[in-house]
Amino acid sequence: MASGSKRRTEEENREFNQDWVESFAFICNTDGLPTCLICHEKLAHNKKSNLERHFTTKHTQFAGKYPTGDALKKPLKSSKKTVKFHAK
Ligand SMILES: [Zn+2]
Repeated sequence: MASGSKRRTEEENREFNQDWVESFAFICNTDGLPTCLICHEKLAHNKKSNLERHFTTKHTQFAGKYPTGDALKKPLKSSKKTVKFHAK
């Protein structure tokens, strides 16, 4: 690794990022794929841009209601009962 390409590594990261749980209300399902906690839709790729687009386009009301990750914790808490949650 001669030239530092941190940005690129982040973009090509194919693993689920736990930050997405609070940022976009997505969790990692048993297949290792991101699943929406709000509508339970499963995405085919662990790409932040895909999750972000799903959250901001399909759940605009939710995003407006809970603009910060901190506020998301409340609805996430109740969702844990029905969706398998991968804790760290
Ligand atoms: Zn959704």
